[in-house]
Amino acid sequence: MVLQQLAYKAESPGGGLVKIQLQYTTQNCSNCGHRPKERLPLSVRSYVCVNCTYEADRDVNAARNILSKAQRVWAGRAALCIGEGARKGDTPDSEWSDTAQDRILA
Ligand SMILES: [Zn+2]
Repeated sequence: MVLQQLAYKAESPGGGLVKIQLQYTTQNCSNCGHRPKERLPLSVRSYVCVNCTYEADRDVNAARNILSKAQRVWAGRAALCIGEGARKGDTPDSEWSDTAQDRILA
């Protein structure tokens, strides 16, 4: 239901829908990309990067990682659709909705 509504909204001009895997989005630092060796327990609500000292709410850090992944996938897919500049590694863990793909190809 929610996905159907998102797909509908994505049909607006300039819109699109990107599906990404959420793996490591709460573990990786959204500032420098560092992944700690130990998993951050769910009870720890603040994220502090041991590599760059970035600090944020755990959910904010995850949201920034999700946005970053979606932007990379979106940019890579668009480049692939027009046949130039596709960057290796931009889309291996992602799927596109038919809606978004149709929009770019049109
Ligand atoms: Zn960091």
